[in-house]
Amino acid sequence: MSERLNPGQTIGILGGGQLGRMLAMAASRLGFHVHIYEPGAAPAGELAGQTTTASYDDKDALEAFARSVDVVTYEFENVPATALDRIEALVPFRPNRKALAVSQDRLTEKNFLQEIGLDVAPYAPVDAAAPDAAARLAQALAEVGMPAILKTRRLGYDGKGQARITNTHDAQPALDAMDGADAILEGFVHFEREISVIAARGMDGRIACFEPGENVHKDGILHTTTVPAQIDSDTRERAFGIAGTILAALDYDGVLGVELFQTDAGLIVNEIAPRVHNSGHWTEAGAVIDQFEQHIRAIAGWTLVDPVRHSDVVMTNLIGDDLDHVPAISTETGTRIHLYGKAEARAGRKMGHVTRITGVARDR
Ligand code: AMP
Repeated sequence: MSERLNPGQTIGILGGGQLGRMLAMAASRLGFHVHIYEPGAAPAGELAGQTTTASYDDKDALEAFARSVDVVTYEFENVPATALDRIEALVPFRPNRKALAVSQDRLTEKNFLQEIGLDVAPYAPVDAAAPDAAARLAQALAEVGMPAILKTRRLGYDGKGQARITNTHDAQPALDAMDGADAILEGFVHFEREISVIAARGMDGRIACFEPGENVHKDGILHTTTVPAQIDSDTRERAFGIAGTILAALDYDGVLGVELFQTDAGLIVNEIAPRVHNSGHWTEAGAVIDQFEQHIRAIAGWTLVDPVRHSDVVMTNLIGDDLDHVPAISTETGTRIHLYGKAEARAGRKMGHVTRITGVARDR
C-alpha cells in the first residue's frame, strides 16, 4: 500500500493550540479533513471538521480518534508515552516517537546532540529532589562554570522553569524554583545572536531548509524573527548542515525547528522542537511555501517544495494586550496579520503575530 495520503483522507492532530490551528488550515488547503484531539480549549477546533475534547489518558477517546484518521501528527512535544502507544497501535504516527522522546527531556536531548557530533552548552544533570541537592548543584556548577542556567528537564517552554545563577547566592533560590523537578544545569552561552532553522524531511529522505531567521526574545518569549539573519554564508551552510544531521539521525518525517546560538567558536545548538515552530511563522508571508504546508506534505508522503524565500521579513509576536495595537497595524501596507482567535488576552499569552515585508529577497 502506498504511504501517500490523498485529498479527502483525514489528518489527526494532537493539540489544538495555534500551531494545530495553522496546521489545520494548511491541511484543509490541500483538501484533507482534519480531526483535532485536545484536552482543553482548542483555538484549532473551529477550523477542523472534527474535534475530540478528552484527556491523554482517555483510552476509549484516543482509540476512537486513531480509528477516525489516516495519520496522526502533533503540535507539541509533551504527548504522554501511553497515549502514543494506543495511537501507534492503530495508525501511522509522524514524526516518529524517537523525536518526541529525545526532545521531551533536555538531558536526553543534550546527550543525543552531543552523540551525533554537534556542539551544545556545557551541561550537567541536577536531581533537585535529592536530600543533597545543594551539594549536587555545587558540584555541577564546578563542572559547568558560572554564570549558568538551571532548567527543569521536562515541560519547560517560553523561558518557564528556568533560573539564572550568576553567583553562589543564586544557587539555593534556583533549586527552590525547580520545585523538586529533575533539572539540568547549562553553562551560560555568550552568543552574538540567536538564529533558528526550520527544516523539513520528506518520507523519501529529502531535506529542505528554510532560510535561517534571527530571533530576539523578550522575557523568555520569542519577540521577533528577522529574515534573513545577519550571518555569513559559511555560518548559513553550517546551520543547514546541523539541521540535516539532526533530521537524518532521527529518521524524521515532517518539519523540525532548530534553535542555535552563534558564538565566536561557531554554532551551538540550544534546543530542537520536533514540530512547526514559532520562529517559522514568517514563512507564510516570506516564502513560496509555509512551514505548515511543508509539514503536512511531509507527513502525507508528498514531495517537499523547495522552500524559496521571496521576501525579506520581520515577524513580531502579539503577546497579551499587544492585541490592542491591531487596529493601528491593520492600516499598514505590506503587513500581514494572523490572529489565533483566543478568547482571553492574558499576559504572556501568544495571541497572534504580524509579518512585515521589508524588501525583496536577493540571491545569496
Ligand atoms: P530555552 O527555553 O532553553 O530555549 O531558553 C529560552 C531562551 O533563554 C533562549 O532562547 C535564550 O535566549 C536563553 N537561554 C537559554 N539557555 C541559554 C544558555 N545556556 N545560555 C544563554 N542563554 C540561554
